[in-house]
Amino acid sequence: MTLPDRLLMGPGPSNPYPEVVAAFSQPLLGHLDPEFLRVLDETCDRLRRVFSTTNPLTLPISGTGSAGMEACFVNLVEPGDTVIIGVNGVFGERMCEVARRSGATVVRVEAEWGQRIDPQRLLDARSQTPVARLVAVVHAETSTGVENSIEPLRVLQDTDTLLLVDAVTSLAGIPLEVDGWGIDACYSGTQKCLGVPPGLAPVTFSARAVERISTRTAPVQSWYLDLGLIGDYVGSARKYHHTAPTGMIVALHAGLGAVLDEGVDTVWSRHRSVGITLQSALVDRGFALIAPDGARLPQLTSVQLPVGLDEGALRRRLLDEYSIEVGGGLGAFAGVAWRIGLMGHTARARNVASFLGALDNLL
Ligand SMILES: *Cc1c(COP(=O)(O)O)cnc(C)c1O
Repeated sequence: MTLPDRLLMGPGPSNPYPEVVAAFSQPLLGHLDPEFLRVLDETCDRLRRVFSTTNPLTLPISGTGSAGMEACFVNLVEPGDTVIIGVNGVFGERMCEVARRSGATVVRVEAEWGQRIDPQRLLDARSQTPVARLVAVVHAETSTGVENSIEPLRVLQDTDTLLLVDAVTSLAGIPLEVDGWGIDACYSGTQKCLGVPPGLAPVTFSARAVERISTRTAPVQSWYLDLGLIGDYVGSARKYHHTAPTGMIVALHAGLGAVLDEGVDTVWSRHRSVGITLQSALVDRGFALIAPDGARLPQLTSVQLPVGLDEGALRRRLLDEYSIEVGGGLGAFAGVAWRIGLMGHTARARNVASFLGALDNLL
């Protein structure tokens, strides 16, 4: 079977770093092999560096980004807890659903799709509902290309309310400082800016979050995502819980190595620079950027197509004739917008040039 070689410029997965592709050809190891455990420990160390944290509880959850989201909510929330969630796109909406299914009462702080959430509104909601156990917000809303600012929420550290951040599309793409911004729980996914295939969800928990989990009265509803049980394997006890996806962890180890070798700051500026180039080139061609200036993600650009262009047909021709994948719009933007990703190894000037060349030929 031969699959086509795609340029993956959708909202994920992105093209893997070459080091990641090479890692997949390594021999498979068992999940309790001392050589594998060394790779696992090093992977957690590398995650700490990329998350910018010293949190001991930092590890890859088996599953995609949504499993990271679910792991955070099921471990931190007990039935009856109140949580405040910022909603300005698909992933804020998904958080509400996951929180609700964990038994939480959800207070929504909404902004229009395509607009950022004013962090002060989240803080005001917390003042009005001081019993809230946590405030959750998506850093990079992949459904609209909007960045929500997290740093002003660090004042939650002075309250009993934890700060939970979705960094699925932000980790290793734009600046993120878990410790510096007072983030208590943070989850990501491997297939966006980390440049690794989908399958793992890196997570990290502060001392406050660990304390919250250890003082629960109700057991964690999910056996698979129970961090106490997972911690017994990833931590020093090395007790079998589930078979760790060893091949994927070796691949993540390699992806993090590529990011750290280049330097996290350099990786951020590479994403920024290609994103800006793409965005101004699209404006020149009559496309309208959806996210406002100042809250526009470089790694995920959402644009409305010029009137008269059939987005579905054009997107299909990009794929069929140039093997370039871009994503369609979601929600109110379905049928009228594209979501163009420049994440991880895909975030290169040569890929922007290929995309623009193909687009110009088709137009
Ligand atoms: C992709 C994404 C998710 C979900 O991750 P999956 O890997 O699709 O499960 C969650 N949040 C954001 C912001 C995302 O971009």
